[in-house]
Amino acid sequence: MEISEELSCKELVELVTDYLEGALSAAGRARFEAHLADCRGCRHHLQQIRHTIRIVGTLTEETIPARAKEKLLHAFRNWKTGTA
Ligand SMILES: [Zn+2]
Repeated sequence: MEISEELSCKELVELVTDYLEGALSAAGRARFEAHLADCRGCRHHLQQIRHTIRIVGTLTEETIPARAKEKLLHAFRNWKTGTA
């Protein structure tokens, strides 16, 4: 059964910077973490972002270039179809 309020991987990727900056509402955080708990791909993505932040030392718009996002989303799709 699908829960309509569940985040998609795409939405999660869009929210990563807000999450890391603590800019999400409590409900937003809960949804974000619920998705993470359930989605290996997004946990991996979050780890990568955190790693990048450690190297760069800050979180900016450029931390997650749009092209990298597209690549990740493509990888997510492959995970979903490949490991079901
Ligand atoms: Zn996901």
